[in-house]
Amino acid sequence: MTSKANQRELSAKTESLFRDVNERIAETSERFESDEAQFMCECSDSGCAERLEVPLAEYEQVREDPTTFVLNPKHVEPEIEKIVKHRHGYAVVRKVDDVVARIVRGLDPRADPA
Ligand SMILES: [Zn+2]
Repeated sequence: MTSKANQRELSAKTESLFRDVNERIAETSERFESDEAQFMCECSDSGCAERLEVPLAEYEQVREDPTTFVLNPKHVEPEIEKIVKHRHGYAVVRKVDDVVARIVRGLDPRADPA
């Protein structure tokens, strides 16, 4: 009965973990002054090892909103997220599922510490 909610919670946590990894990738790329980086696909599959080439400026825009993520377009799950931008090789999605959106907001790596 609660399995659907549990699954969404797990998805949100997996995606937030990929986001944390990407934050490190962005930091490193900035240090090397590159304009683009190979980011991890931020989908809900914990075994996903897909790399996406995303310009750093675009990545920064995605991170400004804690409910947006970068994904391989083929990994988008329409039940929990909606594509807001189609790009070459990746898509930007916004979490539309309430449970998922709440969790990813709570885990926002750029949120001010309370
Ligand atoms: Zn993926």
